[in-house]
Amino acid sequence: MQLLFVRPEIKAPSGLPMRSILTSYLISKNFEKHESSLHTSRIATILCSDSKQSMYCQMLCALLQRNEVVCVGSVFGSTLVQAIRFFEDYWKELCSNIRRGQLSAWISDTGCINSLSMILNKPNPELADLIEDICNAKSWEGIIKKLWPGTKCIDAIGTGSMAQYIPMLEFYCGGLPLVSKYYASSEGLLGINLKPLSKPCDTCYTLVPNMAYFEFLPVHENNEEERSKKEVIEVVDLVNVKLGQCYELVVTTFIGLYRYKVGDILKVTGYHNNAPQFQFVRRKDAFLSIDSEKTAEDELAEGILQAKLFVGQFQLQLVDYTSAVDISLIPGHCILFWELKMEGSSKSPELSPSIIEESCYIVEQSLNFVYRASRMGNLIGPLEIRMVKHGTFDALMDFSVSKGSSVSQYKTPRCIKLEEALKKLNSRVVGRYFSQQLPGYKTLKWKLNKSVMHARKINSFGD
Ligand code: AMP
Repeated sequence: MQLLFVRPEIKAPSGLPMRSILTSYLISKNFEKHESSLHTSRIATILCSDSKQSMYCQMLCALLQRNEVVCVGSVFGSTLVQAIRFFEDYWKELCSNIRRGQLSAWISDTGCINSLSMILNKPNPELADLIEDICNAKSWEGIIKKLWPGTKCIDAIGTGSMAQYIPMLEFYCGGLPLVSKYYASSEGLLGINLKPLSKPCDTCYTLVPNMAYFEFLPVHENNEEERSKKEVIEVVDLVNVKLGQCYELVVTTFIGLYRYKVGDILKVTGYHNNAPQFQFVRRKDAFLSIDSEKTAEDELAEGILQAKLFVGQFQLQLVDYTSAVDISLIPGHCILFWELKMEGSSKSPELSPSIIEESCYIVEQSLNFVYRASRMGNLIGPLEIRMVKHGTFDALMDFSVSKGSSVSQYKTPRCIKLEEALKKLNSRVVGRYFSQQLPGYKTLKWKLNKSVMHARKINSFGD
């Protein structure tokens, strides 16, 4: 059971189509011919572009073939958590479909209908009763093992930004090993895990030396910026990396990327023969991370600047902001905490929801392709702005100072992960607003000319 999803293709401003590497693979003849028959999901359910119908039908396929499943997975751990949450909402309906041998009427995708008709062709009340009993249990701990009793392992990436989903997966998996098989990116398949049963926190990947020409930029974790100002950093070849040292990965690939920085920081942990093995440390620019999408700080800052210019037209000033992700809902979404005031007054302003909703959309428009494609495919929910009371960011600073930061060096953190700090912010929320449109390539309707933007940038609070 491998839950796989295609993402919608979108067009670059030049008209060229852009799609994710996984989508390219899933729609290829290679996948259809060699791999799709190994999965419980019928190919049409994977290729269905409506992610809700696709998820529902893939779940149904897996339940109907529950005794054949030996491995449960998805590319990233986040998708599996999403699938379980989806199942929480839909298990009764799925059971009813199995009991009657009929697919729900809201499934309208013809590919899904046709492929399901081959395996959902007669009532199966015994199977429906069995699944209902499992789902009616007091706790869902270990539910994956109960639903698919032949499962030997969970196959999903659980390292890097996916580590946040491991506790949830462990709860649902009932002790099954979580296997992160490979370290891959659109630039190429970079490494494989030769000890698949290692714990996610100990997982290391062996670089496959013939996948690209690999080079490494040494990274000094403690004082990266300072050092890079002072020294010319020497690029190191694959054979010269040092054990225990962190590096940024640089690749030259067959498709033509030349000395391209992948953006990942890796730490050398050992060797397999002469090939170095690495632990994934972090994304260099990762800031907010939901699903496989990673938003960089500068993208968010650009989006905030644009939104600030927009609200400035209504005499609203952004006093300060920070961000967080909420993965407790499906799909996860980005949250911005905003403190606004009226120009020339310290009072909290009266807000028109449409202005703040438009601001959500403006920020989303500045985020990267993967973010926007994920929004279109409903893998990321609408961006939310939580308006906080006057004085909230002063209170946040007081909180940081009470924890040991120095007042003179304090900078508002642009992304908050600390539970206590999030609680502080949430306790001061006075309004919640969500983006009402899907971000695309449309030119922003309010775009100001450059000189106005520049003037406003200088005048606006906090710049
Ligand atoms: P993309 O270029 O969108 O395909 O995403 C590739 C990125 O996903 C990599 O550069 C990593 O940041 C991340 N990634 C891929 N595989 C792993 C892994 N096994 N562990 C942690 N992060 C990974």
